[in-house]
Amino acid sequence: MDGTDKVALVTGAGSGVGEATALRLASGGVTVGALDMLPERVAATEAAIAAAGGTAIPLIADVSDEGQMRAAVAALMERAGRLDIVIANAGINGMWAPIDDITPAEWDKTIAVNLRGTYLTLHLTVPHLKRQGGAIVIVSSINGTRTFTTAGAGAYTAAKAAQAALSNQMALELARYGIRVNAVCPGTTRTNMSQNTWRRNLEAVRIPVEWPEGQIPLTKGQPASPAEIADAIAFLASDDARHVTGTWLYIDGGQSLLR
Ligand code: NAD
Repeated sequence: MDGTDKVALVTGAGSGVGEATALRLASGGVTVGALDMLPERVAATEAAIAAAGGTAIPLIADVSDEGQMRAAVAALMERAGRLDIVIANAGINGMWAPIDDITPAEWDKTIAVNLRGTYLTLHLTVPHLKRQGGAIVIVSSINGTRTFTTAGAGAYTAAKAAQAALSNQMALELARYGIRVNAVCPGTTRTNMSQNTWRRNLEAVRIPVEWPEGQIPLTKGQPASPAEIADAIAFLASDDARHVTGTWLYIDGGQSLLR
């Protein structure tokens, strides 16, 4: 990827898919606004990018908080002066529980981070992308698009489906500005997401299916590495994908075809 003179915003850049994507884009010469709600994680990503010879702009914000996101995007624009690539990645699994068990507050939290966070990310960055065009990649999931067997994941599934739908709607609405919008749908990926996952009373809704040879046909069950997701995101963000918009790219080793 030739990212010279390009600037990206990556949300959730402190861990997992976001961290790997920030590093991947920076290695291609892109200046990366690395946004996360945990300052120590932002600092670690910034240091890793600097150590590899890249440029990162650290941004600390909760993606579901309008004021914090407004300030973060303003800080990025002040430092970098332009914006070409937006990766709406920050997300949580949240509480997994049956629909008659999950509380309104738990439901709202999952929707707030995953969906409202994506809305705010696009709402605040699209005015800057409009100046010269660009690329948006929304990190959805196999959950909510092809896979519905994750017990208790109703709120997560609903948010991920909405993110994918939003990517198609925006692909059409923003095409006139030369802004491409795509989604990626990762399968199980080795990240720190378990730290943002809580489970309650799942026995009542669990789907009783077992795959003795694992859930991921391509790898005999081994999950993806964050870098494997980041490579596909970087492709969609690059000029190599200049005619690609409104696409959901599955990066799951075939997992969603099985379950
Ligand atoms: P992760 O927990 O390793 O990383 C997520 C990062 O987002 C963390 O650094 C966290 O601090 C940050 N974050 C969480 N809430 C935030 C908020 N409100 N504001 C700002 N930052 C916040 O998880 P990950 O697996 O890398 O998840 C990234 C994306 O990938 C998510 O959207 C997730 O739904 C999606 N995804 C993950 C998997 C998987 O198996 N790990 C599968 C499909 C999709």
